[in-house]
Amino acid sequence: MARHRGKTEKLYVIPLGGLGEIGKNCMVVQYGDDIIVIDAGLAFPEEEMLGIDIVIPDFTYLLENREKVRGILITHGHEDHIGAVAYLLRNINIPVYATRLTLGLIEGKLAEMGMKLPAESKAVRAGDQVKLGPFTCEFIRVNHSIPDACAIAVTTPVGTILHTGDFKFDQTPIDGEFADYRRLTELGKRGILALLSDSTNAERPGYTPSERSVRPNMERVFREAKGRILMATFASNVHRIQQAIELAAEMGKKVAVVGRSMENTVRIALELGYLNVPEGTMVTVDELRRVPLNQQVILTTGSQGEPMAALSRMAVNDHKAIELYPGDTVLFAATAIPGNEKSVARTVNNLYRRGAEVIYDRSAGVHVSGHASQEEQKLMINLTRPKFFVPIHGEYRMLLKHKQLAEACGIPSENILIGENGTIFEFTRNSAQITGKVTSGQVLVDGLGVGDVGNIVLRDRKQLAQEGILIVVVAVDREEGTIVGGPDMVSRGFVYVRESEGLLDEAKERVKRALADQMQRGLPEWAVLKSSIRDVLSKYLYEKTHRRPMILPIIIEI
Ligand SMILES: [Zn+2]
Ligand SMILES: [Zn+2]
Repeated sequence: MARHRGKTEKLYVIPLGGLGEIGKNCMVVQYGDDIIVIDAGLAFPEEEMLGIDIVIPDFTYLLENREKVRGILITHGHEDHIGAVAYLLRNINIPVYATRLTLGLIEGKLAEMGMKLPAESKAVRAGDQVKLGPFTCEFIRVNHSIPDACAIAVTTPVGTILHTGDFKFDQTPIDGEFADYRRLTELGKRGILALLSDSTNAERPGYTPSERSVRPNMERVFREAKGRILMATFASNVHRIQQAIELAAEMGKKVAVVGRSMENTVRIALELGYLNVPEGTMVTVDELRRVPLNQQVILTTGSQGEPMAALSRMAVNDHKAIELYPGDTVLFAATAIPGNEKSVARTVNNLYRRGAEVIYDRSAGVHVSGHASQEEQKLMINLTRPKFFVPIHGEYRMLLKHKQLAEACGIPSENILIGENGTIFEFTRNSAQITGKVTSGQVLVDGLGVGDVGNIVLRDRKQLAQEGILIVVVAVDREEGTIVGGPDMVSRGFVYVRESEGLLDEAKERVKRALADQMQRGLPEWAVLKSSIRDVLSKYLYEKTHRRPMILPIIIEI
């Protein structure tokens, strides 16, 4: 990046994730030789990323500038904001700043990977300021579907940047923690150079309802249930979990939590005081067995139909602790994230098969979004009245819609910048422009491997998944130029060998002929022999089957 020694430094804002996509949010803020990072999240793999566990941002730019990076600030504890922190810290040891619940969740994730929070990391409260190099970073309370979510205002020598994190404005928040409208307004009055705002719900008109609005609907379901109640929601939705616990307590029911990620969140939230549980309401799964069915409430994971989650396993009677009975009521207190509809539907079908009553559709009113709808997005703009506006957190159409909302609020079109991951937004006191691009992209994580699964491995996986594999084993005496064993063929996922003898016998003949042909011409290289096997087989198999299995020749020299 061009340096500007001697002149006033410029401020660079560079998203490494979260623009043009939902997930793996990560923002770099740079002034001169100082960099801070806001959020480092993960994304879940797309369907064609076979075998991939998670996707994280490409941190190349940060690694190349590692000596400049002063710290990472986290807006809230959702996976798409904290899920890549461990991968970043593994490479750059920098302090982490976040509110207590967020930091607790990060600590839990680090522990799973045998890591600890770097020294100097600090739990902050909304309202606190952290000074890092030339940056003064202030955490400002907003509402979201996890407690203790904050926007972060970064004051730099060039001006103040306000990053909203994920937010909504809830006028009746469950924990009584209101968004800090006053501070947002004050900062607006003082002057905000650029607002970077959450675009997730930019296509939704109106206001997102308060989390509290789900309570009466939840209560109706709880009262009408004849037997046991199971409620699936996002593991991190502590407010929803709180409401279910309160309802259960009022009705004299006992609550158990089932599912690893929810057990983790609840444990951390309890330890840190984010959950209020009336004495004797919460029980272990073992204790639950002694409670009559109609007094049992089970809070569980699997609201997205994830095959390994607790509810999905119960639905196919494959859960080690919980068996479903006719008369159970299962409540999905969540809507399916786009892409998960099929797996949710599968789980719902399975639950009905077990005789459960299932409440899952939107009309039940047991779920509200955690993100601002259009009117709240406009409110954010109007409270802060920024000079420049950059929509973040969303697919392209959401960013574009958010731009239109900002225009409607009177932000001049030329002061609104839409970028993508890697875009360099350059700011001075009174200008903003896109000046280039840094390395960005997605790094695939599979098991312990980070980034080692690239396009070639993925292409192989796709071929294996779609066409199968044919392994050809042949022993040759290269000196003599003869085949002394085989060829033998092993098929997986291509054809069933016992029913395809004719096909494979002919294939073997062709391999023999091709090898003999090669060996007659002298002492061939291994690579030549292998590729002639591959060529002759793929041509023949495609003719006969219109399939292209992966062909793996193994040549043994005797
Ligand atoms: Zn979030
Ligand atoms: Zn998010």
